[in-house]
Amino acid sequence: MVILGNWKMNMVVSNAIAFSKRLREIDIPEDVEIGVLPSYVYLSEVANILEGSRISVGAQDCYYEDQGAFTGEVSPLQLKDLGMKWCLVGHSERRQMFYETDEDTRRKVVSLMRHGINPVLCVGETLAQREAGRMFGIISSQLFRSLERLKLNDEFTIAYEPIWAIGTGITAKPKQVEEATSVIRQIAERMHRNTRFNVLYGGSVNEDNAKNLIINGVDGFLVGGASLSVIRFSKIIDSAR
Ligand code: PEP
Repeated sequence: MVILGNWKMNMVVSNAIAFSKRLREIDIPEDVEIGVLPSYVYLSEVANILEGSRISVGAQDCYYEDQGAFTGEVSPLQLKDLGMKWCLVGHSERRQMFYETDEDTRRKVVSLMRHGINPVLCVGETLAQREAGRMFGIISSQLFRSLERLKLNDEFTIAYEPIWAIGTGITAKPKQVEEATSVIRQIAERMHRNTRFNVLYGGSVNEDNAKNLIINGVDGFLVGGASLSVIRFSKIIDSAR
């Protein structure tokens, strides 16, 4: 299992340092991989503290060019230089608030893979799209536009994040998660026969519901709010035991 904590735009440097030091101490089950995704400005600090531990570090976004006149952006080349293992791509907050398109996500995936960083491609539907019966259509179009005809590595990570469940306290039901993750896997495998897909679930995962969401077809979690507390995050990790 892979469990990633997306810190979003939270913490100041003192919290990030104290948090990472406490995180280093937690007990991680053998077959569980943990990663944290702090803001760009704390990546180095957090990576230094977690160096040599079983917790890897990644970014929440990137730009697809290596370098140049792109004010405010951070490139996969720079993330690689900091030793980042993961980078989210197409998180719904980036799509909705910062107008990230499937074409952008595709370019980011290509660029990250070129630098040996694992992209975590986020896909998911709004409540209105689900209620209109468009969930499968939305997810498959996001997958096709981002991944079709790319050369992927042996392993690739996709996060199913229904937008109506992110930060809302409403978690998708295990049946809904199973249905969506299985469709994602089928579509992805049809496009890329030689790649093994890790499909994570994200959307209000917490210490109380994590156990019920460890179901067939779910290879891990992308956790937002509950990853901002060491106690809550470690209970989620424990539930994978
Ligand atoms: C997320 O931001 O990816 C997320 C899943 O957030 P939350 O767990 O807070 O819903």
